Amino acid sequence: MVLPALRPRPVNAPNSWWGWRTRLFIVRSNPAVTGCNLHLKTGDSCVPNLIARFSLLLLLLVFASTGFAANGVQGRWSILQDQDFTLHQVQSADNEWQQSKWDSPNLGFTSKTYWFRLQIDADELKAGRWYLWIHNALLTDVQFSVLENGVLQSEQRAGTRYGVYRRTVKNRLPSFEFLVQENAAYEIYLKVTSTSALQIPAQVVEESEYITKKELNDTTLGVFLGILVAMALYNFVLYLTVKDKTFLMYVAHVCCFVFFVLSWQGIGPDYLWVGWVEFQQRSISIATFLAIAFSMLFCGEFLKIKAANFSGYKIFNLVRNLGLLGALMTPFMNEQWAIIIASTLTFPAVILVLQAMWSCASFRYRPTRLFVLGWMLYVFGAFSMGLNKFGFVQVLPATENMVLWGAVLDMILLCIALGDKYHEERNLKIEAQEQVIGAVQKEADLKQLAMIKEKQARQAMAKAVDAQEAYALVLERRVAERTRELKDTLQELELISERDALTKLKNRRFFNSALEKEIEKGQRLNTAFAILMIDIDHFKSVNDSCGHIAGDECIQAVAQLLQRNLRRSEDLVCRYGGEEFVALLSNCDENRAMKMAEELRARVAECPISCAGQRIMVTVSIGVLAATPARKLVQDQLINEADMALYEAKTMGRNCICLASG
Ligand code: GH3
Ligand code: MG
Ligand code: MG
Repeated sequence: MVLPALRPRPVNAPNSWWGWRTRLFIVRSNPAVTGCNLHLKTGDSCVPNLIARFSLLLLLLVFASTGFAANGVQGRWSILQDQDFTLHQVQSADNEWQQSKWDSPNLGFTSKTYWFRLQIDADELKAGRWYLWIHNALLTDVQFSVLENGVLQSEQRAGTRYGVYRRTVKNRLPSFEFLVQENAAYEIYLKVTSTSALQIPAQVVEESEYITKKELNDTTLGVFLGILVAMALYNFVLYLTVKDKTFLMYVAHVCCFVFFVLSWQGIGPDYLWVGWVEFQQRSISIATFLAIAFSMLFCGEFLKIKAANFSGYKIFNLVRNLGLLGALMTPFMNEQWAIIIASTLTFPAVILVLQAMWSCASFRYRPTRLFVLGWMLYVFGAFSMGLNKFGFVQVLPATENMVLWGAVLDMILLCIALGDKYHEERNLKIEAQEQVIGAVQKEADLKQLAMIKEKQARQAMAKAVDAQEAYALVLERRVAERTRELKDTLQELELISERDALTKLKNRRFFNSALEKEIEKGQRLNTAFAILMIDIDHFKSVNDSCGHIAGDECIQAVAQLLQRNLRRSEDLVCRYGGEEFVALLSNCDENRAMKMAEELRARVAECPISCAGQRIMVTVSIGVLAATPARKLVQDQLINEADMALYEAKTMGRNCICLASG
């Protein structure tokens, strides 16, 4: 099977571990999974496949390692407590030997030395080299004696007190060799002392079988340790990458367990801490204490145990701290007491971990389900091991291996659970981040939209202002135009209102106003002026003879004549009405007025007038009023007087002038 390379997980892949869908429970109950053939449906992940295959491999290895088929020697051990006996003495103390109650003798923790005896009948074993192999590396001192037909054939020693290189058979597990002859009976005597549990899971195996099984046993253990070390390294790298404390706790948990296995299986004392006697004797206790402490630390960290969610929180912490304290205190304790305390602490630790899982584990959460499954194996292993160390249950090579591989599977499941947990948490974090980013983006969009709208509003407002200004300008221009037009119209109106339409001379209204001003001026400056009231003589006959149109022309011609003959610019001649004119002569005394009147009369009388294509002669009569500043001047009276003078001139025969008497 090819393990997929680690790759970044897809962002949205719930319930997946590193991007592969994992359905551990489905696969386990999947009827398609039979024997070695795994028929996973398309889309199923590699992880269940991986676990299933791994489990299969483990089972094979366990079966292989449990292939220590009983060859008839188990169950035949006799036990005798030592009282400084010699081999000779125990040989003869037949009545005191007791049959072992289990196939593998197990006396639990004892500081006493015991003798163990195994009797092999003649021809029970075929001739050749045989081995007695004890699967307990923690025995302190094992003295082996083999008697052939009652005669001592060989004496050998093993145990932690004797380094592997000092032993006859170089094996980390106490092993002894002996030669079997045909027709010979054998007696094997073991004198054993142990600071840890006194257990003799022994086998008698032929040389070839011994070599094969030893190799298998060592390889199995090597694979086991290799997996654990790989897990630890892998998770340590993960810790360095993601800086999540749970990974570090897991690494510590695995390392402690590796340390425990190294001590338990005799690898440490025989190959790693060779010659460090004190440590050799206590390493198993320290490892047990540390394994308890760090497994609880990891469990607490993974399940996020707190006082709020776990009632046994304080006692959980107490046991965990006792584990740490035990590890620190072991060097100062009696080695046997240290291992007894460490083993005893296993029980509350196991119970508390189970309780914590019951209280804090949410089974709907897949990482926790994996975690609990893994821990059940680990806890089962630890529990059964504790029971067996205290001599409550017997120890067999098979159970020892089961415990070992159970722990491996546990570590793998925990590793998957941890990865899963990290993945789930990362998913949640990413989701939360995405939500935040979404919200920020939305806010930014809204702001941008608001800004765009504001800009549009401003532009619209600026446009409106521009339009308004332009309109105001137009309006102003129009108003100015209208005002100018109005002014012109007014001026025109004013001109029209003060001008006579036929003759284009100023009209009577204008004359009245000019006269008023002249009166005011005369009184103010004490100046004299004169009024000439001029009337065309017999004009009716002009009309009658030439027509009204010609009459109009005649009136116009007389008007122009009068106008032309006024010499001074300040002198004014107006049409007074009908065929009558009036002249206002400023700064003019009586003489000049008379002179002026006469001049005008004479000019009209001598000038022929063009009228309806013919030239006619007309005359005018003039009434002259000379207004002096001495008298009180009243407008109507002055006009009246001038009019009277005109009437006088008419009476006098016309074509003459007459001075008002007044
Ligand atoms: P007198 O010498 O006594 O002043 O005689 P007269 O005919 O001039 O006087 P009268 O008052 O009898 O007649 C004036 C005539 O002038 C009457 C009228 O028809 C005419 N007339 C008045 N205004 C106009 C005008 O604007 N155009 C024309 N064609 N005739 C006018
Ligand atoms: Mg008249
Ligand atoms: Mg007239």
